[in-house]
Amino acid sequence: MKNLFRFAPAALAGLLLLTGCPGKNDTADTSAAQEAALPKTPAFNADSAYAYTARQVAFGPRVPNTAAHVKTGDWIIGQFKKYGLAVQEQPFEAKAFDGNILKSRNIIARYNPAAPRRVAVFAHWDTRPFADKDTENKNAPLDGASDGASGVAVALELARVLAAQPDSLAPGVGVDFILFDSEDYGYDGITQADKTNLLGSEDSWCLGSQYWSKNMVPANYKPNFGILLDMVGAQGAKFSRENLSREKAPDVIEKVWNTASQLGFSDFFIYADAPGIDDDHVYTNRAGIRTIDILDFLPSGEFRPYHHTTKDNMSIIDRRTLKAVGQTVLTVIYGE
Ligand SMILES: [Zn+2]
Repeated sequence: MKNLFRFAPAALAGLLLLTGCPGKNDTADTSAAQEAALPKTPAFNADSAYAYTARQVAFGPRVPNTAAHVKTGDWIIGQFKKYGLAVQEQPFEAKAFDGNILKSRNIIARYNPAAPRRVAVFAHWDTRPFADKDTENKNAPLDGASDGASGVAVALELARVLAAQPDSLAPGVGVDFILFDSEDYGYDGITQADKTNLLGSEDSWCLGSQYWSKNMVPANYKPNFGILLDMVGAQGAKFSRENLSREKAPDVIEKVWNTASQLGFSDFFIYADAPGIDDDHVYTNRAGIRTIDILDFLPSGEFRPYHHTTKDNMSIIDRRTLKAVGQTVLTVIYGE
């Protein structure tokens, strides 16, 4: 989803930051940070991530209270179990802005669950029920190939790769994949001005992460940091450095963007700041987990044209984007 936080225009100033140009380092410290050797990391398979995206889309829009939604949730859980991860479901009912009660579940899958030093990978697995930014089909459901399916697909491929190389992470390191439901059923005050928002001033988005942050599974969960993946599959994606991520976890932003740069993915992970957005990381940060948001979101604070339209389908999914995100996150995990 995401509503823009209401930022003053001044907050949008100062867009371009540093670049990772070799030979332009001001201090020995930055030089060391930028040239640190990357950890030995297995390959993230983009074909596999693409197939996971297509599989979810093939179920149909994953809108809460539909059969496609239930089937997709079962399939995601089955995949994690197949790779040997410990899976927990967190069922809950959420009241939506239109009064519907959404039968929802968050999915938590833990790799190496006994390890004390943990990284959280977050995504949402539901689909927005209407293409409200579409010019013609505003009430049509959307495929959510990038918005929803791609983040889950990258998480599943990360789980598959980890499971295929037992004991390859540093000793004591584990990873948790936490997939939120009912993230994208929110009220958009611009495109849905003709509708009534029964939730009033409450946040109508991110219902799964709101629930989870107040009822954490696992209890007292304290990973080192978290990475939220949202809209990470579209061709030509631009991941700019979102405001709340920079505020709450500046070191994680630096680590992820520098890793992407070293891997040659700077055309996706751009060194430009973006304003804050309302996404699941708002609630994970509120729960004390320092979380960044890797999100296809322009420095201007705008989304690209496919967002919340029927164009968000498999035709925009690009293996290179999935690879850039997946290989970067995997390398960061192997560096823990
Ligand atoms: Zn969305």
